[in-house]
Amino acid sequence: MTAPFAILAQKLSGWLRNSTLRRLALALVLPFVGMMAAFGIAPDTVTDKIERSPVVENVTLQLPPAADPQQETYWRETRVERGDTIASILQRLQVDEASASLLLRHSRQARALYRLIPGRTVRAHTTGAGQLLALRYLNGTDLLKIDNERDELKIWEGPADVETRVMMGSGEIKSSLFAATDATDMSDAVAVQIAEVFSTDIDFHRDLRKGDRFAAIYEVHYHQGEPVKTGRLLSAEFVNQGKTFHAVWFENAEGQGGYYTLDGKNIRKAFLRSPLEFSRISSGYTNARFHPVLKTWRAHKGIDYAAPTGTRVRSTGNGIVDFAGRQGGYGNLVVVRHQSKYTTWYGHLSRIAVRRGQRVSQGEVIGYVGSTGLATGPHLHYEFRINNIHQNPLRVAMPPAPPLAPQYRTAFDDTARPIAERLSLLREIRTTSVQ
Ligand SMILES: [Zn+2]
Repeated sequence: MTAPFAILAQKLSGWLRNSTLRRLALALVLPFVGMMAAFGIAPDTVTDKIERSPVVENVTLQLPPAADPQQETYWRETRVERGDTIASILQRLQVDEASASLLLRHSRQARALYRLIPGRTVRAHTTGAGQLLALRYLNGTDLLKIDNERDELKIWEGPADVETRVMMGSGEIKSSLFAATDATDMSDAVAVQIAEVFSTDIDFHRDLRKGDRFAAIYEVHYHQGEPVKTGRLLSAEFVNQGKTFHAVWFENAEGQGGYYTLDGKNIRKAFLRSPLEFSRISSGYTNARFHPVLKTWRAHKGIDYAAPTGTRVRSTGNGIVDFAGRQGGYGNLVVVRHQSKYTTWYGHLSRIAVRRGQRVSQGEVIGYVGSTGLATGPHLHYEFRINNIHQNPLRVAMPPAPPLAPQYRTAFDDTARPIAERLSLLREIRTTSVQ
């Protein structure tokens, strides 16, 4: 009875030393170990052998074997936003613009890509140096596929009949969130959704630290076996500076959806932690983020976010634009009033996107980072005031959104329980040594 288990365990242990198979093998070995322990049939020698297998930290369940970093290619995905141009999209996708536009201009069909409709998705496959290998554009119900095979364009356009799969992944922050999701084969769209979902708890521009960890369960839409669009983030866990945050997507019987903690608290709050949109471009400054030059709050009465000119600035809460124009050292300034006593201030903008009196919702773009007024370089100056008195936005307790209605509690628990189990499995594979 024990011999086959010993052989199996030895084999598994051997596989575990092979880094390319470790990820899958660990997922397989965990249930076995649990089983053997439960039935008490595993001799010590067997568990000893398994114990020697190294701890795997950066695990993705669907990750293919790691390639030579020199040969690494990337799939990246972005949503078309209002005001986007082909150039700004290619920049976010980290595609070398010159080579791409040369290719795209050659084809009449490829010009469909130039009709940029907000909310649609563009995916690009590139080399590490940014050379474009393939593009996918979900154009309403049609899919446009462009493949560059040895500088020869192959274009296909047809109905996008997609199937939806649920994927899981997890990773650890070593330099940036995007580097971590690249390493685990998650698309940027997942990284951005993770950042959005936790945006009222974590300032992804300033708070991330090396060693932070995340796990996510999300949908991916496939067309003929190939991912064409990231769907909804269904649940996520983020461990930021030792503090763990959870989010579970839940849609009630009326079709209203939102993200909740595992115990049913709404994770939305009245204010976002950061007024800057989180993207590969705005967060591409590892040094600025991990070693922030924190100007002293007392002297400054605001927070400065260094970011490239043109980075989108969002209203941190629902409100009405109180001021939009030039004002002394602030340069181009937008002030938004929220629930009468709160105001948020956004200074040094290169461009203002709202008018006085306009209603804005949380996350809505109100302008773009610049260096107008008294600014030495492009950055956003952000202030948070209560009854016109400066407050440190990092210290202000943010009023929470309403919790889950009691009548949905059972349905929510039924959704959250299996998700919590999956997240904890992801966490154990990632952090626990097999014992
Ligand atoms: Zn400032």
